[in-house]
Amino acid sequence: MSATSIGFIGLGMMGVPMATNLLAAGHAVAGFDVQPNAGATLRDHASFTRVAAAHDIAGACDVVIFMLPDSGIVDRLLWDDGFASHMRSGALLIDMGSSDPLHSQANAAKLAALGLRFVDAPVSGGVKRAVSGTLAIMMGGDAAHVDAARPLLSSLGKTLVHVGPAGAGHAVKALNNYVSAAGLLAVCEALTAAEKFGIDPKVVNQVMDASTGKNNTTENKVVPFMLSGAFNSGFALSLMRKDLETAAGFIDQMRAPGDFAHACVARWREADAALGAGADHTAMYAHVQQHKGA
Ligand code: NAD
Repeated sequence: MSATSIGFIGLGMMGVPMATNLLAAGHAVAGFDVQPNAGATLRDHASFTRVAAAHDIAGACDVVIFMLPDSGIVDRLLWDDGFASHMRSGALLIDMGSSDPLHSQANAAKLAALGLRFVDAPVSGGVKRAVSGTLAIMMGGDAAHVDAARPLLSSLGKTLVHVGPAGAGHAVKALNNYVSAAGLLAVCEALTAAEKFGIDPKVVNQVMDASTGKNNTTENKVVPFMLSGAFNSGFALSLMRKDLETAAGFIDQMRAPGDFAHACVARWREADAALGAGADHTAMYAHVQQHKGA
């Protein structure tokens, strides 16, 4: 594909490696983050420009990517701060953060009324796969808009799936993280009980990882981030709690059964409050261990 000038807003744990891969693919990237030091490693790249304000991107780029924490921040930037009204005619906004599907559905309609295009394209795979450019990307939006976004997104991910209309990508992402968070919590409880019986949790995880209990936590998180005590996977516990709240809210809005989702939300909220800002989501293991009872 030909190189494109891309605006990238949100240069955090995920945004930096994603912007780096866009630069490596030959695109020029104009970046912005409210934290002045965010994305410092990008400054050495000749095709990277750090702009002083988000509006500088709105007026200059035909493609804009948001990699922001949540829908509250996306909505404030778009509508309260006037970003949408400064965007170039026909520009494409790709929201790659894990936003709320119903907010994204509404944003797509409001942007369309301004003559702007929208695709939700959240990702899965964490920092490791953001670095290697092998993220799973689930896309929601009009087929023509998704087709326009696809060549660029293929620099960032390996599995790109168009899952439905605008908001559908964010719905699938929230539901995926609900299943992931439920699996992680189940592993934490199982390892803690086994350890109390006198079984080495590393051995338990090895067996589960070769058995039907295998999941992303047994495969990728228990040994490097939990049993090691490192708790540094690069995905904040507060973001996982936010994703669970989004999933439970979505399940309720769809009038689908959600008792288990709400039970998970309660446990992740409790851990978030106990561990405080900055805790990695793998520290759920430490939280469960601290409350392992008599
Ligand atoms: P992060 O907190 O590291 O980065 C977010 C960045 O957005 C920060 O640098 C912050 O300063 C910036 N920001 C906040 N408000 C802003 C604003 N108004 N304008 C400009 N910049 C602003 O978070 P992250 O881990 O990179 O996650 C980003 C999104 O991706 C979240 O929605 C998260 O749920 C999702 N996600 C994260 C992971 C992961 O492993 N970290 C994996 C998949 C999806």
